[in-house]
Amino acid sequence: MFDWNEIISRGSKLSKKLEDIKGKSLVVTMEIPWKKFKEFSTLEPTEIMFAGEMELSYINNVVENIGEFDWVIGIGGGVACDLAKFISWKNNIPLILVPSVVSVDAPFTASIAVRENNVVKYIGSVIPQEIIIDYYLISQAPPELNRAGVADILSIHTALWDWKCSSVRTGERYDEKIAEEARKCLSEIESNAEDIYEVTDKGIDTIVDMYCKEVDLCSEFGNARPEEGSEHIVAYCAEFLTGKQFLHGNIVAFGIFCMSRLQENSPEWITDLMSRTGLNFSASDLSNDEIRNILLNLKKFKDEANLFYSVVDERTIDDNFVSDILRRLNRFEK
Ligand SMILES: [Zn+2]
Repeated sequence: MFDWNEIISRGSKLSKKLEDIKGKSLVVTMEIPWKKFKEFSTLEPTEIMFAGEMELSYINNVVENIGEFDWVIGIGGGVACDLAKFISWKNNIPLILVPSVVSVDAPFTASIAVRENNVVKYIGSVIPQEIIIDYYLISQAPPELNRAGVADILSIHTALWDWKCSSVRTGERYDEKIAEEARKCLSEIESNAEDIYEVTDKGIDTIVDMYCKEVDLCSEFGNARPEEGSEHIVAYCAEFLTGKQFLHGNIVAFGIFCMSRLQENSPEWITDLMSRTGLNFSASDLSNDEIRNILLNLKKFKDEANLFYSVVDERTIDDNFVSDILRRLNRFEK
């Protein structure tokens, strides 16, 4: 199995070492992380590119007009890391990633998230020369962004239920050893919940290590089944029906909250764990009507998008279920 220790280095203000980099460097970043980074680093790259638009036709055009570089360095969150990965992959330039937040697993996955006609699509494959986990830089991001990172690990809880259910109902391939290893990620989060809440070095390490483990498990199995279940269907459906863009972790957390109840799969335990890590599962960006619309149309959305088998196929979501969810989120109905 791939040895993460060979490419991940960790330390406070460790990214200062980039000041010594030789050759022509292209930094791909965003305004806020770049500003935070420059508060302690004197790095003067050959060129700086600010990431934003990830539409494939647009970024294809960007890479075609790029000069010669010895290094591409991504400093920032998911979008900056994905654009840096894309440039590295397309133009075959060695890559260094410096995540400024642990809100998404983008720095640790080989595939690259881009958009085609505004729908997320995963393409390519790239492994960085180095991933610098700079505790100081990451701790400068808003804590709720870092806490949101835990959602794509806690999603294992609902994903494993769906996976098992599908194996029984549809005969889908299931691997108990991988499921067991994935379950260990949940206990690891449970043991370090307070550090994740406080965004300590240990909390950051826990999220980073669990992302790496999850990436290994998913690649060993061949797809994201061990960590992606009906909670992600809720997230995709919310994006599709409202046209809004959410902080991925928070909308997945809302999905975990709802689907663990539909599954009758220790909802109190997982909700308590989400609270302890400070993960916001309350869908504060959604109105009561939007929540109702999303949940009542989940099965239809899933069928039309042709997504995997899950509790959504197994149990019916009715008005009572929605009212119960709203009540538990302390939302009052007219
Ligand atoms: Zn996710």
